[in-house]
Amino acid sequence: MTNAPDDVPRRAKRASIKTQPAKAKMSKTKAPRMKARKPASPALVAEVFRRLHAIEPEPKGELEYLNPFTLLVAVVLSAQATDSGVNKATRGLFARADTPQKMLALGEDAVREHIKTIGLFRNKAKNVIALSQQLLRDHGGIVPADRDALVKLPGVGRKTANVVMNMAFGEATFAVDTHVFRVSNRIPLAPGKTPEQVEAGLDRLIPEPYRLHAHHWLILHGRYLCKARLPECWRCPLNDLCAYEPKSVARA
Ligand code: SF4
Repeated sequence: MTNAPDDVPRRAKRASIKTQPAKAKMSKTKAPRMKARKPASPALVAEVFRRLHAIEPEPKGELEYLNPFTLLVAVVLSAQATDSGVNKATRGLFARADTPQKMLALGEDAVREHIKTIGLFRNKAKNVIALSQQLLRDHGGIVPADRDALVKLPGVGRKTANVVMNMAFGEATFAVDTHVFRVSNRIPLAPGKTPEQVEAGLDRLIPEPYRLHAHHWLILHGRYLCKARLPECWRCPLNDLCAYEPKSVARA
């Protein structure tokens, strides 16, 4: 899972839910500037998630983990890295250390060796050891089901804490990574200049029964369809709901 927002959205008028799919050809003129970046209407948000739910009722994250501790470690390691790259490294690591105690016993040098294929591995190895120490010292070796406590752990920011609260503890949190940020701004669902603004907007807008899985739907949509450089609008199920212009078309 990558971190930083990577896309300054270009804007146009949002299509009505009732409008037909976008034009088949990409506009050659400059995208018009958006007058105001308003959050989506409740009807549009509900329709977006109704469609994403119909396509994949139980979306899952792609990081591999065994328990809340290994989930926490995997998410810490995933900053500035791909989930598949993290999974390759953690299969061996978690086979040897799936608790804070075992991670400490393994030691920083061995952790570093296991994760050396991941970006920022030296600093991440330090953080994995330090958060294991802190979990043992402050939480009896248990990952706390509390976002405020999680963000006090080394290497754990709000996004990581939100992922852990959602995946390990079933809380309806909205982790805003680069994909969620991009999709939320392009459609737009909950436009914002920072991940915190987008998170607050999603929290306000997304209704039940979609709240628990919303961040996974948006991550997967951004990763596989609404890509940063070339969104695949021609096969996007949200095309007629989305205001992003110019929409891309399939190559012949
Ligand atoms: S892929 Fe295109 S149509 Fe679909 S949400 Fe992204 S920008 Fe909008």
